Amino acid sequence: MHRTVFNHGIKLLKPTQRCIPVAVLPTRQSLLLYISNHSLQNRNVSIKTELSGTNVAQPKDANNVAHKQEAPWDIDFTNIVEAYKSKSNYEIFRAAMVFQLCTIGFLVEHGMTISKYMKKVTGKWLFKKSMNMSFYGHFVAGENQDEIRGVVDKLSAHGVGAILDYAVEEDLSEEKAEKLEMDSCKSNVTPEYETMDRYQPHREFSDRRKKVVSARTYFYEGEAKCDDNMNIFLKCIDAVGATTDGGFAAVKLTALGRPQFLLQFSEVLSKGQKLFERFCGKEGNLVDRKFDQLRFETKAAKLGILMSRDESQKWFTWMDRDDSGYVDLLDWNEMIAKHRKFSDLFVVLNPETGDEESLLPKFTDEEEAQMKRMLIRVDALAQRALEKNVRLMIDAEQTYFQPAISRIVMEMMRKFNRKKTVIMNTYQCYLKSAEDNLCTDLALSQREGFHFGLKLVRGAYMEHERERAKQLSYDDPIQPSYEDTNRNYNKLLKIMLEHIKQGGKADVMFASHNEDSVKYALSTIHDLELTPQMQHQVYFGQLLGMCDHITFPLGQAGHRVFKYVPFGPVDEVLPYLHRRAQENRSVLSGSSLERSMLWRELRRRLFKGQIFYKPT
Ligand SMILES: Cc1cc2nc3c(=O)[nH]c(=O)nc-3n(C[C@H](O)[C@H](O)[C@H](O)COP(=O)(O)OP(=O)(O)OC[C@H]3O[C@@H](n4cnc5c(N)ncnc54)[C@H](O)[C@@H]3O)c2cc1C
Repeated sequence: MHRTVFNHGIKLLKPTQRCIPVAVLPTRQSLLLYISNHSLQNRNVSIKTELSGTNVAQPKDANNVAHKQEAPWDIDFTNIVEAYKSKSNYEIFRAAMVFQLCTIGFLVEHGMTISKYMKKVTGKWLFKKSMNMSFYGHFVAGENQDEIRGVVDKLSAHGVGAILDYAVEEDLSEEKAEKLEMDSCKSNVTPEYETMDRYQPHREFSDRRKKVVSARTYFYEGEAKCDDNMNIFLKCIDAVGATTDGGFAAVKLTALGRPQFLLQFSEVLSKGQKLFERFCGKEGNLVDRKFDQLRFETKAAKLGILMSRDESQKWFTWMDRDDSGYVDLLDWNEMIAKHRKFSDLFVVLNPETGDEESLLPKFTDEEEAQMKRMLIRVDALAQRALEKNVRLMIDAEQTYFQPAISRIVMEMMRKFNRKKTVIMNTYQCYLKSAEDNLCTDLALSQREGFHFGLKLVRGAYMEHERERAKQLSYDDPIQPSYEDTNRNYNKLLKIMLEHIKQGGKADVMFASHNEDSVKYALSTIHDLELTPQMQHQVYFGQLLGMCDHITFPLGQAGHRVFKYVPFGPVDEVLPYLHRRAQENRSVLSGSSLERSMLWRELRRRLFKGQIFYKPT
């Protein structure tokens, strides 16, 4: 291998053309199926599909209005009659009681233990009955075909699509979760570079479920388990494909491979970005920053890299993929992800040990093998999704995994989103880096002409992220305040709607329970005068049993709105129910508003003599 030695110990190596095979597409280990019913305009019958032993009825003709005419934007979310007209008095009473129970701290805190104890005392039958009359009945669609079909049909009749979510979760002990995590995140090889603490596993944070209530956590239990997960997803995709055009399945990448690879790849990307900033400076938006050959030479000299003009010309030409005369972040990322030996470019001599160290870590052979296995699984899912006309939405996870997840998703988009949106990424607006991340990926999609699919959320891991950053002494990745997160959400929402207005090839889901965000999205759609066709590229998402006063009016007005609809046996969805209870516990969670609206509607019906009200 040819090497050129420079002063200050930094060396440049010859570029090689070896590529890391990054292809692919994901789904999530949980069965998250979004059944988008807008595409079922011509179907008048419910369709059954076999899904892990459960036949699932599909919605009929919800959301089909938006395509034809502009959906109204000034929706009244305080209209309790409209919000709850799909619910019987019993369902309203049950919902109000469930939210009331969520305010009892002791019950929420010890929910799992209490449920297990109750089951022992009351027996299975009575336990199931009581759960049906409370949390399970409210938050979960059921466990068999008829139960699930009932819920999905009802949503459909009110203009709401369903994203079926196989909500079964293993109730791992803290000890087991910690062991699984530490075993699966530690590399067998001692790294030849200085590692970043942030991308290393730490026992005190290894049970990733701690302080995370609104998202499910997967632990690596071996390659066979990952294959099982993939097979479950394949079945889901088949089920969605058999029943809809353009339905959805959702995926968490941590379900499909060893998380150590995600940590390692994230570290490579993070170090790569820092190195890029040393060349291009820190002025302006990251996506607009770039350097030309002169700057490259100057900065390289400042960093202590000596090279001849010929050499610098050669290196620069190699990096400048589109011959623009500049290297920007897109060029740079491309080099990092695709060229294994890119890391060989930047090697320093450690003055203490005299050893060579790469500024950019390289993958070991084992890590490359792990990566390939994960990508093969994801690719299989993507291929199947493409064949079946299903879209895959990839969840965003913790920041120490997210750079890798996002990068893989973009590679999948590049491969599969050529003609339409098959793959959707997720952007967490509580991150300080959210705007840079979204704008860089949007720019890549524009430059390469593929469809950009995304879900916009605030983010589910705030407390975990903050505490980890504090204890490990790295910068808190989260926005300083809730207001900053809100501002960021609105800003990114607007960027995406403006992009759609300009004819951009994009599909965006605003996944939020925040009424102000939904209103802001609607008013921006109105202000920008999006055509019905453009509105067809915009979706809203909420969970079953949450914020019906937002979901149903949206659906009835003709907007494309979806509920995550979890299903599974009572015993096995308890962790999911426990998290829902925790989420609705705080006074600030929004459930207090919902609770009061539910009671008001119940009182109104009783005063009106609608004791046997039948949902329309
Ligand atoms: C359909 C759907 C899909 C989702 N998918 C994902 C996903 O893939 N990945 C993911 O991470 N989450 C996901 N979430 C969860 C989401 O990120 C939020 O945690 C949750 O929806 C609450 O946010 P909100 O916008 O609904 O409402 P709000 O209640 O208005 O916002 C609460 C959120 O604001 C932020 N926040 C609160 N306090 C502060 C503070 N002091 N400083 C900074 N920020 C603060 C946090 O993100 C918090 O979760 C999803 C949610 C839904 C409904």
